[in-house]
Amino acid sequence: MSQKPFGYVYDERMLGHECKYDKTMAECPKRMKLIYERLQKDQLLDGALKIDAREADDSEIRLNHPQQLVDEIISLNSTEKCEEYCKDKEILWTCENTNEAARVAIGGSIELVKAAFENKIHNGFAMVRPPGHHSYGKVAQGYCIFNNVAIAAKYAIEKLGVKKVAIVDFDYHAGNGTYQSVKDDPRIHFTSFHGHHYGSFWPFSREYDYHTNDPNTLFVPLNGTMNSEGDYVSVFHHVLLPMLKQFQPELILISAGFDSGYYDLMMEFGQGVKAHGYGHMARLLNEICPGKTLAILEGGYHPYNYTESASMMVRGLLNKSLPRLEIPSRLSASLLETLWNILNHHSKWYPKLNEKLNALERQQEKLGLDPFVFNQTIFLGAKMRLMYDDVKKHKIVRTREWFPELSEEQEAVCKQKIDEYKKEYEFTNHHSDPSEDNLLVQCIWDDAARSDAFMQASPFASVLIQEFNDFVAGKRENMMICDREMYIDAVKNGVLEAHKPITTTFNY
Ligand SMILES: [Zn+2]
Repeated sequence: MSQKPFGYVYDERMLGHECKYDKTMAECPKRMKLIYERLQKDQLLDGALKIDAREADDSEIRLNHPQQLVDEIISLNSTEKCEEYCKDKEILWTCENTNEAARVAIGGSIELVKAAFENKIHNGFAMVRPPGHHSYGKVAQGYCIFNNVAIAAKYAIEKLGVKKVAIVDFDYHAGNGTYQSVKDDPRIHFTSFHGHHYGSFWPFSREYDYHTNDPNTLFVPLNGTMNSEGDYVSVFHHVLLPMLKQFQPELILISAGFDSGYYDLMMEFGQGVKAHGYGHMARLLNEICPGKTLAILEGGYHPYNYTESASMMVRGLLNKSLPRLEIPSRLSASLLETLWNILNHHSKWYPKLNEKLNALERQQEKLGLDPFVFNQTIFLGAKMRLMYDDVKKHKIVRTREWFPELSEEQEAVCKQKIDEYKKEYEFTNHHSDPSEDNLLVQCIWDDAARSDAFMQASPFASVLIQEFNDFVAGKRENMMICDREMYIDAVKNGVLEAHKPITTTFNY
């Protein structure tokens, strides 16, 4: 057991990043503060080393972004300018303190990486905001200004001589900014688990389906809702861990968003990762890169979930006891379909995945089942993407009140759901990996799995399509960045061509 302390970053300058024109913003200062207080309360920071954050300088930001974005953020010196700036961006708010906070978030992440390579710490967690994983190039979006994790990875490589870095992003939203920042760089392996829903979910792009052209990118698009911690960890065993064993990173950066947590974002339409799942994912990554596994905070929006989840993740990084993890006997069906596609797609680059695929195919044959048909999945997001792009082009982005706040009743439901599973916790230090046989049986692909996959994915995708159709038909007031009044005005004035609904039948 290492004698070196755990490292952490927490700096109240990042609490100054707060939306002045809309108090309903889900990405708010208390996220960071509550996580820090929770870790203190759980005594997880006792004996840990606090790493001082600092403001990153322009040259460090330029490791991943052009000076243009740096200058734009510096220029935001009034609330009016801040809101105006966001009228051609996707889901972004800014304030006069954004520049300072965003620089401290980067500086803190970099200092944590440095501390790990100066052998001062054994693993660590940067509690930072604004988050970063949606930002790339000159595109700030999705609550993200600069890409903290991508800059930290590039800093490690360019300035510290680290040869290979893996980034693992388990935030519910696609690590699209990170992908655009690191794709095709053979020194960086990138994994993102993310809500996809056949492209009907933001960022409405085919590019984030499983079929990435970059051997070093693993996308696990989630088409169904409520995948569990056991499902996620199973995908680690099936694909991610063998990939990382082949890649051999010297540093793992976790893009630690907790919005896939059970009853976090969108409640039963979200994902179902219970808090200890984050502990187990961190524990397994630490086995690949002992002592050099560093988490950087991304999303997570329901306090009762993200404090619990962050606490468990840190337990995993500290190698403390964790609640026993249940590995499901069969994988959640729509994730299983994705896993088969991933194995088919990536097996040409990874011999271990090829072996796994062959074993699964032999199992199908032995059971008298038809082979899995490797398929290009459907994509439902084209018209949504077009509408978002048009709204941005004409600078008529709705900049406020994207998410309704939870009612007190809803919050009580979230709390109750989380309390229920916490009652079942059985803490232990002994965690055995699932056997290869169990992992194979999880993946049996039969008619039931195929229909379950469809049934699991359909309800939420239908809701998303219906929201879009209702908006373009004028039956729904707003849709995230699309504002009814501004949209209608733009159409009336001939600035914008009205968008067409997604239909399931042809109109002859
Ligand atoms: Zn997120």
